[in-house]
Amino acid sequence: LKTSLKDPTLLCDAAYLGGDWVGADSRATFDVTNPARGDVIVTVPDMGRAETARAIDAAKAAQADWAARTGKDRAAILRAWHDLMVENADDLAAILTAEMGKPLAEAKGEILYGASFIEWFAEEAKRVYGETIPGHQPDKRLIVIKQPVGVVASITPWNFPNAMIARKVGPALAAGCAFVAKPAAETPLSALAMALLAERAGLPKGLFSVITSSSSAEIGKEFCENPTVRKLTFTGSTEVGRILLRQGAEQVMKMSMELGGNAPFIVFDDADLDAAVEGAMISKYRNNGQTCVCANRIYVQAGVYDAFAEKLAAKVQEMTLGDGFEDGVTTGPLISRDAVEKVEEHIADAVSKGAKVATGGKPSALGGTFFEPTILTGVTREMQVATDETFGPVAPLFRFEDEADVIAQANDTIFGLASYFFARDLSRVWRVAEALEYGMVGINTGLISTEVAPFGGVKQSGLGREGSRHGIEDYIEMKYLCMSV
Ligand code: ADP
Repeated sequence: LKTSLKDPTLLCDAAYLGGDWVGADSRATFDVTNPARGDVIVTVPDMGRAETARAIDAAKAAQADWAARTGKDRAAILRAWHDLMVENADDLAAILTAEMGKPLAEAKGEILYGASFIEWFAEEAKRVYGETIPGHQPDKRLIVIKQPVGVVASITPWNFPNAMIARKVGPALAAGCAFVAKPAAETPLSALAMALLAERAGLPKGLFSVITSSSSAEIGKEFCENPTVRKLTFTGSTEVGRILLRQGAEQVMKMSMELGGNAPFIVFDDADLDAAVEGAMISKYRNNGQTCVCANRIYVQAGVYDAFAEKLAAKVQEMTLGDGFEDGVTTGPLISRDAVEKVEEHIADAVSKGAKVATGGKPSALGGTFFEPTILTGVTREMQVATDETFGPVAPLFRFEDEADVIAQANDTIFGLASYFFARDLSRVWRVAEALEYGMVGINTGLISTEVAPFGGVKQSGLGREGSRHGIEDYIEMKYLCMSV
């Protein structure tokens, strides 16, 4: 990998703590491997609580000066960082594909998507407006000012090694916070490359640290128990989100949570069927089904069920599995053996209860963690796929008859992140959009993520929003000034 990069220094094997690159020295290390080939890319130091505490102290030391700068000043550095991410997008994409497995074109898309959050929040840094309130008594003047929350810690998953961090560090730095990141152990290299570019963009030391660690629970405890950390922002499973919320309760820490989903994708009789198939392809199989907004349950109205299943199967046949670095590959491997086991379990459970495998259904002949993109027909609500997030390339097709029933089924889950539906009748479009208990609804589209819109979930899918003008609010405190004149 190193020799293929235009700038080989972007491949880092040290952690970035308080503005210093800290190598393994005599510390323990862990391997970062390529999931498509199984080979070790680099070995990074395995940091623990002591190093994390050091990064947190450095963050605190740097934060006050950063917060005291003008928004415009902070914006200029973020903007320079964005520009460097875009200039180095090919290298960043190659590092991402190597550690995570998604095809190079998709990885490049993620880098540009991640960079767009840095750009957006660079712009927003200048627009953190306060408020004046007409006084409640003749001599009173009431003002609300906005201030950064302080030191922010983040824990992120492997499925978007760049963008999940960019969506958090962008608004945090724009608001005047300092940021300590713990990327997933599977994918720390994209985070380290981002830190290197931030350093080159002139970000002062200490404001952005990256802890490489294989003991996430330990780091999570330090984040929650260290009184200097005022906020934790997490993207990952609902199970781990609950643990962190419990831990953070001790010091009533601010929390942002982007948790699991169980997205319904509904195709009504009056839908444009080709558009629905295209939407399902992107929503279901993007990132090999490994996103929290991937369609998890596909409900198709009886009148178009067979036609939809047939058209979807034809499109699935066009997918090409392989090493993300090879031309023409549309789909990489799954991240791990565990991921493959979950997919197999969901398929076996559905088949045992009467579902049919329309296409795929088994590990790919490529071996490793490659799995054939799968469609299941005749799926019912008794099957595991109805309630659990598969996080893999399985499209379970449920048949439904009427609108009220499908909405009830769609909402019958603890999750409330993304949902999708395809329909043309305008009254139905409004009715369904308002009835779905989700933070996000894709209407006649399978792709909804953008830095300009608020991303986030309701119910047990999360707390807070990322992106849009609202995204910076999660990193800001309001302070009320009551002045007697
Ligand atoms: P995923 O299925 O995406 O790996 P997880 O919620 O297990 O979802 O992991 C998301 C992130 O949370 C990863 O960086 C992982 O290392 C971290 N993590 C897992 N368990 C804990 C924990 N108990 N405390 C803190 N972080 C954790």
